[in-house]
Amino acid sequence: TKVTLLAGGVGGAKMAEGFAALDDVDLTIIGNVADDEEFHGLWVSPDIDTMLYTLSGRINRAQGWGLADEGRRGLDMLTDLGADTWMFLGDRDFGLHIYRTERLRRGDRPTEITADIAKSFGITSRLILPTDDRVQTRVRTEAGWLSFQEYFVRERCAPEVLELTYEGLEDARMTAEASSALAEADLIVIAPSNPLVSIGPILGTAGLRDALKTASAPVVAVSPLIAGKVVKGPADRMLAGLGHRADAVGVAALYENLADHLLIDNSDTALAGEISAKGIAPHATDILMPDLAGRARLAGEIMSLFQELE
Ligand code: GDP
Ligand code: CA
Repeated sequence: TKVTLLAGGVGGAKMAEGFAALDDVDLTIIGNVADDEEFHGLWVSPDIDTMLYTLSGRINRAQGWGLADEGRRGLDMLTDLGADTWMFLGDRDFGLHIYRTERLRRGDRPTEITADIAKSFGITSRLILPTDDRVQTRVRTEAGWLSFQEYFVRERCAPEVLELTYEGLEDARMTAEASSALAEADLIVIAPSNPLVSIGPILGTAGLRDALKTASAPVVAVSPLIAGKVVKGPADRMLAGLGHRADAVGVAALYENLADHLLIDNSDTALAGEISAKGIAPHATDILMPDLAGRARLAGEIMSLFQELE
């Protein structure tokens, strides 16, 4: 079964790992590039790297991002030299950023570079980008506009989010790879990623939302919120701050006319009626994925739902 997964970083990678563990699934992931930012002259793509490190088993499992067996000697040198080093970049991680930046400098397409890294890492799923153009999320706080990583890492998501924009998104063209991944999918899944800053910029890529709507595959989304709370990250506060409901109904509202089904947590069954009212079929189950077994279980449940639809 051809599954196309729209996914951000940590939450997205958990879902991807679940599908990758299933034998009968041919997985293509459309990742998020809007968290990308330049550090020390290097182009860093945090959500894509989380996906690469997770699917190749190189991820720091306790942390959910970054490499296991990592060092900070490179970063310490930069600190000694007076550089701003609030963004943690590990020694081995730096190697990947150098490789990506050098290939970009030579004019290679980001989607191609990502595919080559995935291949070198021995990843058998396809990891593609929604666009090869630069898109960068900007966050307005009381202190003014911040880059996404300044908000997320430097400020630890503490400031209230007053506004979000996605610089470059208006002119971003969808890749041919993303277009065919949606057209050829048997099943499209929206991972339990941040709907505003991870899934938002993917769906906002010109033509992508329409490609998703016209695709023949059913669209199943998984809520990143359980009982109105995130498992990790700022999605709940971000939703509330920007006038959305910070629960599975708020997630359903953002995926209205797009998702056919929404997996919600067993603790949220009371929200099922309001989700149905939006034309999205709710399915209550255990949507927490603490370990690989939990991830494969949830992916398996989505496959069972898909087989019932067939
Ligand atoms: P980021 O780019 O690293 O911030 O990660 P994503 O945007 O892909 O995912 C962030 C979201 O994943 C958060 O809103 C979390 O609530 C959600 N999340 C993390 N772990 C789980 C889980 O096990 N189950 C569900 N349903 N959501 C999760
Ligand atoms: Ca992210």
